[in-house]
Amino acid sequence: MKTDIEIAQAAQMKPIAEIAAELNIDADDLELYGKYKAKLSDTLWDKLKDKKDGKLVLVTAINPTPAGEGKTTTSVGLGQALCKMNKKAIVALREPSLGPCMGVKGGAAGGGYAQVVPMEDINLHFTGDIHAISAAHNLLSAMIDNHLQQGNELQIDPRQILWKRAVDMNDRALRNIIVGLGGKPHGMPREDGYMITVASEVMAILCLAEDLMDLKRRLGKIIIAYNFNGEPVTAEDLKANGAMAALLKDAIKPNLVQTLENTPVLMHGGPFANIAHGCNSIRATKMALKLADIVVTEAGFGADLGAEKFFDIKCRFAGLKPDAVVLVATIRALKYNGGIPKNELGTENLEALKKGFDNLKKHIENIKQYQVPIVVTLNEFVTDTDAEIAYVKEQCESMDCAFAISKVWEKGGQGGFELAQKVIETLETKSSRFEVLYDNNRTIVEKIETIARKIYGAKGVVFTSKAKKDMEKIAQMNLDKMPICIAKNQYSLSDDPSLLGRPTDFEITVRELRVSAGAGFIVALTGDVMIMPGLPKYPAAMNIDVNEKGQITGLF
Ligand code: ADP
Ligand code: MG
Repeated sequence: MKTDIEIAQAAQMKPIAEIAAELNIDADDLELYGKYKAKLSDTLWDKLKDKKDGKLVLVTAINPTPAGEGKTTTSVGLGQALCKMNKKAIVALREPSLGPCMGVKGGAAGGGYAQVVPMEDINLHFTGDIHAISAAHNLLSAMIDNHLQQGNELQIDPRQILWKRAVDMNDRALRNIIVGLGGKPHGMPREDGYMITVASEVMAILCLAEDLMDLKRRLGKIIIAYNFNGEPVTAEDLKANGAMAALLKDAIKPNLVQTLENTPVLMHGGPFANIAHGCNSIRATKMALKLADIVVTEAGFGADLGAEKFFDIKCRFAGLKPDAVVLVATIRALKYNGGIPKNELGTENLEALKKGFDNLKKHIENIKQYQVPIVVTLNEFVTDTDAEIAYVKEQCESMDCAFAISKVWEKGGQGGFELAQKVIETLETKSSRFEVLYDNNRTIVEKIETIARKIYGAKGVVFTSKAKKDMEKIAQMNLDKMPICIAKNQYSLSDDPSLLGRPTDFEITVRELRVSAGAGFIVALTGDVMIMPGLPKYPAAMNIDVNEKGQITGLF
């Protein structure tokens, strides 16, 4: 079996201008980044904006094992299958962050015979979007410290600065730092820290902004600190948002690339799925809907986080109406949810599978609450047995859910025909009556309780005294009428990662609330949320190399 990077390097890529031409994109509307990557210019949007939208298909998953269950792989493979079946399809995905590439998880361009290429470029620097976001983010940081140094006219309380610094690397040594050491000419000493760039509010804003002017306006609303009277100080107060937007003028344009089978892919923006909403940019999705009849897109983590935020944050803001959901399950994740340890997932175990199926069942019920038709797909692994597959199929069909096996990892588009057929049938015969889960005008408590009860299956929510104080402050600032972005572990429906399957009789504890006023949501933190990951003992970086010809090995 070839590795992902070997498969990717053997791909017969078409020049990206050719892929664009097949989508009827004028050469003039294309900004080339080498031969195989391009950005779509704003003039293209102006030409397309009144066209009818295609259908929107969201790919999400059950609660995963730590290895990931193949949402990206399935999205890419489904796009390939649809195109092979002569449908006009585009895949819209997030762009990868360097941290996970060099750490444990690896890249994020799919796997096996369902990948986006050029895989090395995409996983490393791509078109520089994430670097631009780091630059814009750190410009604001520099302007904050400079403001303190130059007399602090805005009376920023240095103990209440919320804006950290950002770098796109897993670097735990930067989590907590002291800046401004060395005496008076070198700044005001204070505690600070770094987050990984994809956790930056600038990333979330870039992904939710309608256009460059909306981006600038939203950047201006970022709350960077409180002053000595406890009032918010924003990026606009520092006059930073114009220059930040200038740094992002190209990063806001969607990137066009292709799959191993030359299916067009818009890969743009990559916010975290915990403290942010976890899906590609609104601009890329909207552009894709104008360019194709079917758009396949992915949301991060399991459906309790990813799909919920896709619906209640992204679709709400963008006015998008998803037409179908593909819910990815794997036999190994079902068994993992049934209580089987990671190293035994390759052995047949129908008992554990039955127990773990409850997790899938809850996700099916959840998506039905949004009134979007569902297709369940099993992303097949070589260790799956016929009896296990038969069980899942039978159970899904008994719940009136379309079901398909997907073999796209092994066979590419061809392995996705069954899934693509079910998706096409669903789009043709079932209509979506999509509705968001809650009304933004409810109180913060009501909104969080709605998500916790209806999606997680919790019996209630506990707010710590810190969370209650935060809530009062947010209401005081008149920022409480925004959607909620819950930061929670991805392994359990609860806030305790060890409660697998379908936990019942539990409460969610909200420890803290933060406002992402520029992005336009309230972040509710449950448990510890990592905004700067670390590297493991043996980081993936130790296997990555490059030869004298510039060929890269070891990326996955
Ligand atoms: P997600 O998007 O859900 O995090 P990915 O699609 O990135 O998951 O897949 C995670 C990893 O699992 C990738 O390394 C991918 O190559 C691998 N993978 C996905 N599907 C399969 C499969 N059917 N068999 C073997 N490996 C797979
Ligand atoms: Mg993914």
